[in-house]
Amino acid sequence: MTRILVTNDDGIYSEGITALAAHLQTVGEVVVVAPSSEQSATSHSLTLTRPLRITKLKENWYKVDGTPTDCVMLALSHILKNGPRPDLVVSGINHGANLGDNVTYSGTVAGALEGSIYGLPSIAVSVVGREPFHFEPAGRFAAQLVQKVLAEGLPKGTLLNVNVPPGEIRGVRITPTGTKVAETRIVEGRDPRGRRYYWIGEDSATWHEVPGVDYEAIHQGYISITPLRNDLTDHRALAELKHWDEIQIEN
Ligand code: MN
Repeated sequence: MTRILVTNDDGIYSEGITALAAHLQTVGEVVVVAPSSEQSATSHSLTLTRPLRITKLKENWYKVDGTPTDCVMLALSHILKNGPRPDLVVSGINHGANLGDNVTYSGTVAGALEGSIYGLPSIAVSVVGREPFHFEPAGRFAAQLVQKVLAEGLPKGTLLNVNVPPGEIRGVRITPTGTKVAETRIVEGRDPRGRRYYWIGEDSATWHEVPGVDYEAIHQGYISITPLRNDLTDHRALAELKHWDEIQIEN
């Protein structure tokens, strides 16, 4: 029996995780371990300065008052420790895109990243756009992709970052991440006591138009699948900077 661990960063009560769990139940047993409140843009963070609480909501549904990474770690090292190990981790469905440079802020992607660090094939799924989101096509595709990954496997350490465009879907593109034009709208205002505040708002929504990248696939109506890995080493720079090995330490 296939066992799938599901998490997200929008919280266990979000519409996206409900849709994901429902679709994946057609493939195997689903165990949901997800944050009790929204953890968007918490990236790969861990909670170390306070204890975590696990609440069982119903059979196979657990909430944790922490981050997506906390959830996957607790699920694999504690909650599911004595049962069969999950075959796969799926994180999402995120309410909004996780493309290009924004992948590194993403709690959704981090949930899958944590799964891959534990040696499990892992997938992050996001729906591009704004409210109202339509999770049906992304949920259906997630179930299809899970079956493909179970049948064919993934390269060791690889996770898949899947983004589903709004509207009609033309197909699938395997893509590298693109880069965004780094401009963020900062909302400025005054709190009730008259002090200034700054609230991080939206991205500029423009990207550097390099052919074939994730942004382009979405823009053209394709589902984008980007293989990612935890190794952040810049392998180009490794060769270029190799001669720095000869740096003599000055005293
Ligand atoms: Mn989110």
